[in-house]
Amino acid sequence: MDLNRIAELEKFPEEDLAERIRLVRKSQGKDVCLLAHLYQRKKITELADFVGDSYGLSKSAANFEGGKYIVFAGVRFMAESARILARPEQAVLHPDPEAGCPMADMASLPQVNAAWDFLKSGPTTTPITYMNSTADIKAFCGENEGTICTSSNAMKTFEWAFQKSKRIFFLPDEHLGRNTALKFGIDPSEIAVWDPEQPDGGNPEDYEAAKVILWRGYCPVHMKFTVRDMEHVRKFYPKATILVHPECTSDVVAKADFVGSTEAIRQYVAKETKAGDQIFIGTEINLIQNLAAQYPDRMVTKLHRSLCLTMYQITMGRLLYTLENLESFERVEVPDSVQHYARLALDRMLSLQG
Ligand code: SF4
Repeated sequence: MDLNRIAELEKFPEEDLAERIRLVRKSQGKDVCLLAHLYQRKKITELADFVGDSYGLSKSAANFEGGKYIVFAGVRFMAESARILARPEQAVLHPDPEAGCPMADMASLPQVNAAWDFLKSGPTTTPITYMNSTADIKAFCGENEGTICTSSNAMKTFEWAFQKSKRIFFLPDEHLGRNTALKFGIDPSEIAVWDPEQPDGGNPEDYEAAKVILWRGYCPVHMKFTVRDMEHVRKFYPKATILVHPECTSDVVAKADFVGSTEAIRQYVAKETKAGDQIFIGTEINLIQNLAAQYPDRMVTKLHRSLCLTMYQITMGRLLYTLENLESFERVEVPDSVQHYARLALDRMLSLQG
């Protein structure tokens, strides 16, 4: 990767880069499928073939007619998921291979194996990992009779896991895990936390009786929203509706008018709100700004400004460079054994969709 060339490209105004990307894309036709996550900057989402959440995007890539090259504007675990779900002959390219997800990177395979060695001697346990995890962790769940969940099907995966085991080991987002467990009716006293920094998880006396053991991981973007932010909105905008993502802490979730995945928030604004409404959202700022631009007749605004810095590492300059160097650009690779078990876990998740 020629970083000097990328630095040169970054000096051009975004509008010029957008025009050049359009021209390159036109010459490439259906060979290239450009996917953009909903948290990408607006200019990138405007240029993409598909815009959506990570799972929806990966499926789109696999089903895209043509699509010899899949360029994924998102973070690394998403590009890995696209690799796992795409057809073998498709090449997956990630414009910034350094753009990881801080939450996914909070659970490494050696740490998870160490926790599993400790927990597997207790009551029967099913591991469930959130889609926002590395391919290694997805494969760990596949190999150990577990599955993967998204923020929209987490309840179904809990139901499935409790039919076959006594406990759930939930990775890597403590908050999505707790919010799902509470919604499922599990008593807070039956929820324990595994701290990967402690050799025994930090709470060994709690694990035997726990129904859900949560990995101590979090999304820095969704941790920014507080009950104080919400009280401020309620005081000055008493008619406002507050929407939050389930990666927020449980006290924030408890006080929201609506809790849903990125896609569910988008759908809620589209279908459940009308001109003149005031809508405050607790999720990544680019999604909120894109929704605000799409619905100028209502007030769509942030609960607090929170930017995903690694999503933002995908710039217009990097995107253009990737598109201009499809043949030589580094491919996203996932070892075959990891792909096999990760795919198994993904297929289990799909069979639970209903
Ligand atoms: S918003 Fe949070 S979970 Fe999503 S990519 Fe950024 S850090 Fe990861």
